[in-house]
Amino acid sequence: MKNNCIFCAIAAGEIPSFKVYEDDVVLAYLDINPFSKGHVLVIPKEHTEGLLDTPDATLAAVVARVKKVAAHIKDALPCDGFNILQNNGEAAGQTVKHVHFHIVPRYGMEPISFENHKGDMDELKALAERIRL
Ligand code: 5GP
Ligand code: ZN
Repeated sequence: MKNNCIFCAIAAGEIPSFKVYEDDVVLAYLDINPFSKGHVLVIPKEHTEGLLDTPDATLAAVVARVKKVAAHIKDALPCDGFNILQNNGEAAGQTVKHVHFHIVPRYGMEPISFENHKGDMDELKALAERIRL
C-alpha cells in the first residue's frame, strides 16, 4: 500500500466505494464521477502506477477480471457496448497514479465525451447494487 494513494485507501477499505466486484487480486467499483451510467474502475490491490511498471502476471489477472465485470455489466444494464480505457501519465489524462482500467458502458449510438460528470450518490448506490457480482 502506498501512502497518500487514494486507490490504495479504497482497496484497503479506508475510503468507501460503491463496490461491484472483489477478489484477492482486484477491486472493481463505480467511478464517482462517471463518463456514462455504469462506469466502473478495475484496480489491482497491489500498488503500481501505470501499465509499464505493472508485472505481466498482474496485468493478465486484472484484464481477465475486466472481462468478467464487463460481461456482467452487459447483462445487468441495457448497454450495447463498452469502451475500455487505461490512461498513462498526465499527458494522457491520468489523474490517479494507481493503475486502473475504466469500463465505460455505451448506449445505442449515443455519443459521449470522455469527461467526468458529477455522480449522484443515491443513483450510484442503487447502480452498484444492480451490477454487483
Ligand atoms: P484517470 O483520469 O486517472 O484515468 O481516472 C481516474 C478516475 O478516478 C476518474 O474518472 C475519477 O472520477 C475517479 N476517481 C477519483 N477519485 C475517486 C474516488 O475517490 N472514488 C472513486 N470511486 N472514483 C474516483
Ligand atoms: Zn495505490
